[in-house]
Amino acid sequence: MSQKEKLVVIGNGMAGVNTVEHILKLAPNQFDITIFGSEPHPNYNRILLSYVLAGDSKVDDIVINSYEWYEEHGISLYTGETITEINSETKIVTSDKGTTISYDKLIISTGSNAFMLPLPGADKEGVIAYRTIQDCEYMMEAAKNYKKAVVIGGGLLGLEAARGFLNLGMKVDVVHICDSIMERQLDRTASKMLQEKLESQGMNFLLNKQTEKILGKDRVKGLKFSDGSKVDADLVVMAVGISPNVQLAVDAGIEVKRGIVVNDFLETSVKDIFSVGECAEHRGIGYGLVAPLFEQGAVLAKKIAGVDTNPYEGSVVYTKLKVSGVDVFSGGEFIDGDNTKAIKIEDEFSGIYKKVLVRENKIIGAVLFGDTSDGTRLMQMIRNETDITGYEKAAILKDPDENSGKGSSVADMSDDEIICGCNGVSKGTICSVIKEQGLTSVEEVKNCTTASRSCGGCKSLVSDLLEYTIGDEFDKSAQKETMCECTDLEKEEIVVQIKEKGLSHVREVMSVLDWKNEEGCSKCRPAINYYLGMVNPKQYQDDSTSRFVNERMHANIQKDGTYSVVPRMYGGVTNPADLKKIATVAEKYNVPKVKITGGQRIDLLGVKKEDLTNMWEELDMPSGYAYGKAVRTVKTCVGEEFCRFGTADSMGMGIQIEKRFERLNTPAKVKMAVSGCPRNCAESGIKDLGVVAIDGGWELYAGGNGGVKLRKGDLVATVKTEAEVIEYTEAYLQYYRETGVYGERTSEWVERLGVQHIQDILADEAKREELCGRMDTALSVLKDPWKEAVKSEKIQKDLYEVIEAK
Ligand SMILES: Cc1cc2nc3c(=O)[nH]c(=O)nc-3n(C[C@H](O)[C@H](O)[C@H](O)COP(=O)(O)OP(=O)(O)OC[C@H]3O[C@@H](n4cnc5c(N)ncnc54)[C@H](O)[C@@H]3O)c2cc1C
Ligand code: SF4
Repeated sequence: MSQKEKLVVIGNGMAGVNTVEHILKLAPNQFDITIFGSEPHPNYNRILLSYVLAGDSKVDDIVINSYEWYEEHGISLYTGETITEINSETKIVTSDKGTTISYDKLIISTGSNAFMLPLPGADKEGVIAYRTIQDCEYMMEAAKNYKKAVVIGGGLLGLEAARGFLNLGMKVDVVHICDSIMERQLDRTASKMLQEKLESQGMNFLLNKQTEKILGKDRVKGLKFSDGSKVDADLVVMAVGISPNVQLAVDAGIEVKRGIVVNDFLETSVKDIFSVGECAEHRGIGYGLVAPLFEQGAVLAKKIAGVDTNPYEGSVVYTKLKVSGVDVFSGGEFIDGDNTKAIKIEDEFSGIYKKVLVRENKIIGAVLFGDTSDGTRLMQMIRNETDITGYEKAAILKDPDENSGKGSSVADMSDDEIICGCNGVSKGTICSVIKEQGLTSVEEVKNCTTASRSCGGCKSLVSDLLEYTIGDEFDKSAQKETMCECTDLEKEEIVVQIKEKGLSHVREVMSVLDWKNEEGCSKCRPAINYYLGMVNPKQYQDDSTSRFVNERMHANIQKDGTYSVVPRMYGGVTNPADLKKIATVAEKYNVPKVKITGGQRIDLLGVKKEDLTNMWEELDMPSGYAYGKAVRTVKTCVGEEFCRFGTADSMGMGIQIEKRFERLNTPAKVKMAVSGCPRNCAESGIKDLGVVAIDGGWELYAGGNGGVKLRKGDLVATVKTEAEVIEYTEAYLQYYRETGVYGERTSEWVERLGVQHIQDILADEAKREELCGRMDTALSVLKDPWKEAVKSEKIQKDLYEVIEAK
């Protein structure tokens, strides 16, 4: 039997995983792949962190490969685990958690660390770097309590962080040591224009300032500069550069200069050890942008898979600032010198500046401000060192208005011109995939070619190419929001087909409805499973293999691979007997952390997979569904039973609601709350459904969300009795179940359908009755998954048995 080679990757970031993606395409069955990542997340797009900080994306949106992707490709993933030793003699790596794995081939892709200036006071609370999801979350959290941020560093990263703070409602100063910002990418004219534009957005610049000290007791209070001046700060972000993460390689005796030294095939000085990404140094250069790292990855993948490849000979880089309303592009060389000449346009009225730098008649660089649409074309000319002898010089900087309509500039491009610089995808590749696979949307092109998957800057070019390739068909079909790239159908069409054709299995839906990918993907399979259950609650046999891992396991998987157990605690109310039971079980199974959740329940964290079913049995309490797209908690205040202000029994009402709807599957998680008076101590205003007692009745608030995108719920009905609260809640939840898109929270759903529409539905007695009838059917079939697992040896064996590795 042929044994697979063992490939271990240290670093679960952009370069390492991109290389693995290539390897999977080139040699899908050649390797047993293991990936280690210090961060507690699957592989995500670091470039897009600035969009998360600016509030334009959520953390989930920037995940490139979900946990399911690793599972599907048989990759063993260790997140939250750092490799601390490489033994190149025994070919074994060891992690901080004691995991040891042997390798045949090893890739080091450990990226960089954000560089922290060693200033006095740099260790104070509130002084951070900007590199990871964790940093981003810290900044977003801090913005809730503090008002004044200072960013040290006026480069790309610093400016994007500063823009994020403005969006988070903070005042922000950018401190920079030079007298012009982004001086490594922009000439003085562009830098000045950029500064003015950002100032008009509310950013304040302190240029020519050298920070001497960070002020404050425990927490930062301000900065002191070498000229004696000071500035106040509640939060300081250092965005002053990066240093390659090379210690591991140094300790292993691999040659390291500034980065890990690699040759043109990304080989290090030690046999079978390769390095790619920001941690690597190639021909004396370490790259800090994604496009070159992906170019390196493509070569490395071929090398490792044993496919012939040209060597990697270095990259020409370009930069784009990801700040809304500001278009800046810089590629290649940009500073005029004695032997350079420039072609320039400067239009102070429109705020447009374009400069192309030429040496010996060859284009060597460009800076664009205000209109960056020529960036990709110019970048190609820079890469090709295009000789412009014979060109009409002004035509090199065409005014976009002179182009003959949308899409015309892509028509002029040659097939090998790069459209997506981040992922190195050419016009020719995109056009042929569009034609061969009949693609009709940017999303599909993205999935088939990876173009526009990173910074997204080339989306409009991809869109132009679609228009150019398929003509009039484009606009019409691009409007359609298909469920995923496996199908051309929208959610509504799928639900209609399930009903009309009487479909009853996930695979049947995919085969009857002509799925393009017969296995489906992690987006469509859970959605189809949900829709089938929603349409036919009585007949449908849930397909657990089409569920995400948390739902399959009925426990939340945590970053270290352990699980959490959250027993249901109706309305947040408990009693001494249950508390004792929980304490006994926690003690017996050495639960490392016991926590009260925001939803008023007890979270037993750090549970081993093999202990889950025994704990559930001994707890003998229902599952709290803390892991599911389902009804989760109903938070309550103390209400009239104890509170001086309470006008109603909020605890009783909350318990009733939770008992009625527990285990109900919904398009996304549903959190509810009941408050005993308008003081609203249970925070009913930011719940998917919030119930508030008022004089003589109850108000129902819909679509509230306390998450990343805070949303206040809208009043959708006022009722008199407790029975009516239940009736309206039934109708509301069932309507959401039937019309919500899988994964869509009520906050998005209410906005999509409109508050008035929800109010009208709830006010219509006949509709309410129909919805409640269907809800009764849905509720009648629900079972407690913990009980089922405790009773079934098969479930225990299939899901919870741990097989020791030999
Ligand atoms: C906010 C921000 C915005 C950016 N914007 C852009 C942009 O617009 N355009 C662009 O081209 N680039 C941009 N970049 C840079 C780009 O993100 C990086 O160049 C790229 O992510 C580097 O990829 P990498 O795989 O080398 O490193 P990373 O993506 O950082 O991955 C390295 C991973 O290795 C892990 N690791 C390190 N040591 C160990 C260990 N011992 N064991 C296990 N795991 C380990 C780390 O936790 C990390 O997850 C931006 C970066 C940031 C921070
Ligand atoms: S919401 Fe009203 S009833 Fe409930 S605890 Fe607060 S003040 Fe008391």
